[in-house]
Amino acid sequence: MLELDDLHAGYGGAPVLKGVSLRVQEGEFVAVVGPNGAGKTTLFKTISGTVAARTGRIRFRGEDLSSVPAARRPHLGIAHVPEGRQLFPSLTVMENLEMGATTAAGRRDWAENLARVLDWFPILKERRNQLAGTLSGGQQQMVAVGRGLASSPHLLMLDEPSMGLAPAVAEFIFERLAEIRRQAGLTILLVEQRVAEALDSADRGYVLEAGRIALEGPQETLRRDDRVRQAYLGM
Ligand code: ATP
Repeated sequence: MLELDDLHAGYGGAPVLKGVSLRVQEGEFVAVVGPNGAGKTTLFKTISGTVAARTGRIRFRGEDLSSVPAARRPHLGIAHVPEGRQLFPSLTVMENLEMGATTAAGRRDWAENLARVLDWFPILKERRNQLAGTLSGGQQQMVAVGRGLASSPHLLMLDEPSMGLAPAVAEFIFERLAEIRRQAGLTILLVEQRVAEALDSADRGYVLEAGRIALEGPQETLRRDDRVRQAYLGM
């Protein structure tokens, strides 16, 4: 579904991604983990088009994205749930969810998508008329995921959904993502610093270090890898 080949990107004179190649198959749940500053957010921004690729190639469902502007990419089925949620704090939960339904598929499926999101995150049903800025961090993350789902994406990309959340809340979000993937048959690409939890939810993982893929493999293999255990799992 998503193929990145030797992708280079950065800001001004500073290279950040230095030849990243990765694959996500239809229906897979893939985690990209790595330390602060490795380029995880830049990788997502390059896929969603707000950072330009310098060289290399991104293909999504067989289409080369190099000439597809960022604003078009959600219409191809790419939803990006950004780091820090980026909700509209003075709009309600419902209004924020509706902001995701800007694609043709999202408008067509709005009623069904809304019902499913409220089913996966029942607290949002109670809070539907509350201003997003007054929600807890975990509830805001649920709205951000719901807004992404409201576009009826083929690929849901989540940038550190657990950021700033208590462990139990983060665990709930990961558990819901696994459930959403199962029920909706969605493809998920996740970036995380909480490596153990991210790998637990995923089928496969990539370790991004200093703009390069240092390791990749099925999640069980990565969890057993000595380097991963020492550097990321504190063992
Ligand atoms: P974190 O988990 O801390 O967000 P990350 O792996 O997502 O880290 P990026 O946010 O992609 O890493 O940042 C990679 C590098 O690019 C860092 O050195 C960062 O300072 C730099 N960088 C990020 N955004 C910009 C920007 N807009 N302009 C210049 N440099 C940037």
